[in-house]
Amino acid sequence: MTTAPPTLPPVEPPAELDRRSPKKLRAPVIAARLDEEYDGGVVELNWTTPFELLVATILSAQSTDKKINEVTATLFAKYRRPEDYLAVAEEELQRDIYQTGFFRQKTKSLRGMCEALMERHGGEVPLTMRELIALPGVARKTANVVLGAAAPEAHRADRDAGIAVDTHVKRLSRRFAFTRSDDPLRIERDLMKLLPKESWPSASLSIILHGRRICDAQRPRCADCIVEDLCPSSLAAGRRDLARQAKGMGQAPVAETA
Ligand code: SF4
Repeated sequence: MTTAPPTLPPVEPPAELDRRSPKKLRAPVIAARLDEEYDGGVVELNWTTPFELLVATILSAQSTDKKINEVTATLFAKYRRPEDYLAVAEEELQRDIYQTGFFRQKTKSLRGMCEALMERHGGEVPLTMRELIALPGVARKTANVVLGAAAPEAHRADRDAGIAVDTHVKRLSRRFAFTRSDDPLRIERDLMKLLPKESWPSASLSIILHGRRICDAQRPRCADCIVEDLCPSSLAAGRRDLARQAKGMGQAPVAETA
């Protein structure tokens, strides 16, 4: 199952808005355009229950959604509940998830997470940030993805919820000059200040899709980009790539917009 949070109403940009405008003004317009373009964003991992989404998201670290979907097609038929992951030998689970990479660490994370679900939550996935991030192997990115996709209303009501920051969100946030940081927690906080809370689940998913389809790490397709006019890193406009510049220099980019 893929989930698309409800799309946001269009945001009318102020008449003079452009790539040099303050990020506070550009951010909601960029988020709304991407939200519309990608229909609220979707988790491209296959899942039917919050537990499957949690497992798939843990497995997806340092891998691709395509690979994870190939692996979980058989994994989810064999392991249906948390106790199933604890009933087999560690080596057997390692073999079953081997193709996802980092299989030893992921096996430990999965079994630790399943053990905690059994001990603390009756085998069910808790749908609060506080309880999710207390599970072994579950950091804020995973918790935000699971809560935002499996229970968007709970995500909106949860005061601890935020924005999932993966490699795409990190890169695009820097290209948009929404942040000068390299740290996911700091980037999440910067984004939370710029975007309305109701947009957080879909903003993250839409930015991820834009990063995968248009704003590639090596070759961003700026000429085809629907937010090109608002992007301070547009190569089509002869601008510097703020994400690459920061990486190359090993320091935060020079802020070019407020
Ligand atoms: S204009 Fe280029 S760098 Fe900016 S978001 Fe679009 S594709 Fe990415």
